[in-house]
Amino acid sequence: MDTLGIYIHIPFCGKKCGYCNFYSVGYSKEKIRLYVNAVRRNIKYYSDKSKITDTVYFGGGTPSLLSAEQISDILNDIRNNFVLSENAEITLEANPVMMKNIGDIKSAGVNRLSIGVQSMVDGELEFLGRLHNAEKAEQAVYSAFNAGCENISCDLMTAIPKQDFKSLEYSIEKLCSLPIKHISSYILKVEENTPFYDNNISDILPNEETTAQLYLKTVELLEKHGFYQYEISNFAKKGFESRHNTRYWKCLDYIGIGASAHSCYKNKRFCVPNDIDKFIENNIQPVEITDENPCGFEEYSMLRLRLKEGLDLRKFPDRKIIIEKKIPALLKAGYAEYDGNTISLTPKGFLMSNSVITYLIF
Ligand code: SF4
Repeated sequence: MDTLGIYIHIPFCGKKCGYCNFYSVGYSKEKIRLYVNAVRRNIKYYSDKSKITDTVYFGGGTPSLLSAEQISDILNDIRNNFVLSENAEITLEANPVMMKNIGDIKSAGVNRLSIGVQSMVDGELEFLGRLHNAEKAEQAVYSAFNAGCENISCDLMTAIPKQDFKSLEYSIEKLCSLPIKHISSYILKVEENTPFYDNNISDILPNEETTAQLYLKTVELLEKHGFYQYEISNFAKKGFESRHNTRYWKCLDYIGIGASAHSCYKNKRFCVPNDIDKFIENNIQPVEITDENPCGFEEYSMLRLRLKEGLDLRKFPDRKIIIEKKIPALLKAGYAEYDGNTISLTPKGFLMSNSVITYLIF
């Protein structure tokens, strides 16, 4: 039986962070209620009892704004319309100051929490426009852990203006002292249509060289604490890699439900427009096809090379000889490793991933 991941996008936030270009808006209880009803209608629409759903991911936005009952209703709908595997990974993204009912959320079926910590330095959190401080982040992790959630991930941001090696090391040491199993670490980028863009924050970002050094330092420190790098931006204790996100990098099927959600399903990539009202009003979510033939060689290779386990060239015998001619230059530069079958990038290679991947596969 084919397996499937289901992504539910909850596009509501208490306050917009300065750097964020995800689709999210302010909320009311009524709006969330209508939105959840629309999510439930769409789960029924995609119903397929031949699919084993082994990952569910509530992303946002701020999914921890949902009540435990709403989460439970959505999971029951998934259970009734697909085959929800017994050991399914069920993740919920949570804001440290909006996750009060964590015991109930766990009872509803969530078994993995991804907490948007970003930094353990108050000045950096304030700069990012976050609603929490370091103490609240720490409390959030402990309250989740004490409620029985053992699979906790935290986000960490690097290359924040004024962040230096000392403050980065402080954040990492603090995070690694918490009972967590996974860290997603992102380099701050100033995207268009964000307050950071309008305020020219890119002028005060660390320069390219410093950003690269901060990235390499992050990899080194996290590995020292037993968080091995399994993807460009993701680190985990062994056995706690994100199974849902790994689906994306392995070109496996997933259905995205909600405004701005993306899917790769039945050999098509499609997305839902960024419009909450349209999502609520329509009986079935409107979708735009973005790729009629996804996961061909180039896309598959690009995604695979994000993973530390790399790209097995035996899958593409006709390309192997061409690619192999290019590998020695990458090995010499310290960008890749090759065992005769599988090529994978090193942290230095991940830093240059766009150009390294383009050089290798185009
Ligand atoms: S809480 Fe997350 S989704 Fe919401 S604005 Fe901040 S970064 Fe964006």
